Amino acid sequence: MRKSLAFLLLLFIFSGVSAVPAQTGTKKGKTNAAATTTAPRFGNTDGITAAQLRGYLEFIASDELEGRDTPSRGLDIAAMFIADHLRAWGIKPAGDNGTYFQKFPLRRKRVDAAGTRLELNGQSYAYGEDFLAGTISGSASGGLVYAGHGWMIKSKNIDALQGLDVKDKIVVVTSGLPKGVTFQDLQGGKQGVDWASPTLNAQLKGAKAVIVMPNFGTLAGWAGARWTQTEKGAYEFGAETAATTAIPVVTASPRLAAALFQGEKASAGMIFNKAVTQDFVEPFELKPTKKLSLTVAARADTVYTQNVVGVLEGTDPVLKNEYVAVGAHYDHVGMNPFWPGEDKIWNGADDDGSGTVSVLSIAEAFAKGAQKPKRSILFIWHAGEEKGLWGSEYFTNNPTVPLDKVITELNIDMIGRYQNPGDENHPVNKFLPKPGEVFVIGSKMMSTELGAVSEETNKSFLNLSFNYKYDDPKDPEQFFYRSDHYNYARKGVPIIFYMDGTHADYHQPSDSIEKINFEQMERVARTIFATGWELANRAVRPTVDKPLPVDGQ
Ligand SMILES: [Zn+2]
Repeated sequence: MRKSLAFLLLLFIFSGVSAVPAQTGTKKGKTNAAATTTAPRFGNTDGITAAQLRGYLEFIASDELEGRDTPSRGLDIAAMFIADHLRAWGIKPAGDNGTYFQKFPLRRKRVDAAGTRLELNGQSYAYGEDFLAGTISGSASGGLVYAGHGWMIKSKNIDALQGLDVKDKIVVVTSGLPKGVTFQDLQGGKQGVDWASPTLNAQLKGAKAVIVMPNFGTLAGWAGARWTQTEKGAYEFGAETAATTAIPVVTASPRLAAALFQGEKASAGMIFNKAVTQDFVEPFELKPTKKLSLTVAARADTVYTQNVVGVLEGTDPVLKNEYVAVGAHYDHVGMNPFWPGEDKIWNGADDDGSGTVSVLSIAEAFAKGAQKPKRSILFIWHAGEEKGLWGSEYFTNNPTVPLDKVITELNIDMIGRYQNPGDENHPVNKFLPKPGEVFVIGSKMMSTELGAVSEETNKSFLNLSFNYKYDDPKDPEQFFYRSDHYNYARKGVPIIFYMDGTHADYHQPSDSIEKINFEQMERVARTIFATGWELANRAVRPTVDKPLPVDGQ
């Protein structure tokens, strides 16, 4: 049964302690007894338990946190929850001005429905009903040109606008990549030079606005998109953001699309059906008698969100000036009250609730362990990962501890899922790690020593099966680029990334707590603790002896 928010908040506000039974690695009695026994080789690994992880995740992945979007109320409550525990365990704040929070600005853009209009041959169409709009403000009026998919991709010798005169006109496109093209084909090329999205391509050729034809996706998500555009807003990283395109873009409803192509050589229905199979009607100019004018009014403001950062200071007078960073992202993708399905909240129990509570439990184990590490431990929960690794980009550009003193970043993103019996035949879940296995990326990529420490610690502790299947920047899944460790690696900090790959509930409302395997998650979290412990106590920091095998974009 799900705990109510009021109950959980009351519990942790008034109890001042966590909502779950805290685990001290060693019981008082036992400690004395322990005094006679040797200290555990890898420190207080017992301080991390499946029950503890479950207790924290029940809160973090609860519906009440509304999927922890960046920025959102749910994310802020999660930040307070984490900070409250760090404070209770005596872990020092390492955010802004003596707090646990490192604030960073986001640009929020929303459509002003009252100021957004569209007219076709004197007939006006209503925003939200007959069309939706992006958040680039602007006005345009003129003739119309239909341009198929609208893309320009030099490497594929594709330019949908070639030979078309779109100057000072409004271009209509069907969304979708040209046949045989994937986003991989855009990797590495320069936007606007080697390739251009339909909007940028139209803008570069002098068009004044773009209208996108509806498809199944647009129609299914219409209400949600309107809510996002007018209420939730679209967010960009940073206070001042330079948009790549500057012309307004609207999406037509079936009613507006039908009016646009009435009496033309191809009807809206034909264009719609062809696009379903990535076949596009040949571009053509619409009748010159057809005149359209539109105005999109968007308003922008700056809002703030935060990373959560704490430090457990090391005991060695010299080594305490160096840090082992242990991180995760505590955000997810939020909710959509208009989602057609029953469940409208993306709980992100695995992504990255599992990492969030693992770092929390690792922090608790370090704080409550009888032995303390020589180097300091930096615990960090990044915001905005789902939006584009924003939190880690902000932290590594504005570190609250000297980044060159961070000897390694251990990044945890999705370690809650493992193959269940029968999954070996499941089309997607067959890619999950087996129990006792975890995917490891990057440990050997920049530092031979770090790779050795990771392997040796594991071998002499729980001896999990470290699977290096994705341990290559060129791997088609591109996992090396897809989580926060990448921003540390870019800055020369050697990293280890722990994950379970992907599964059928990835970025679905169904990524929820009942699917999490806490026993396996405990083992991986303990192994990460042990690795951090080993790194925090070794005499010398791992040497970076290999350049990052990708250009530090
Ligand atoms: Zn994630």
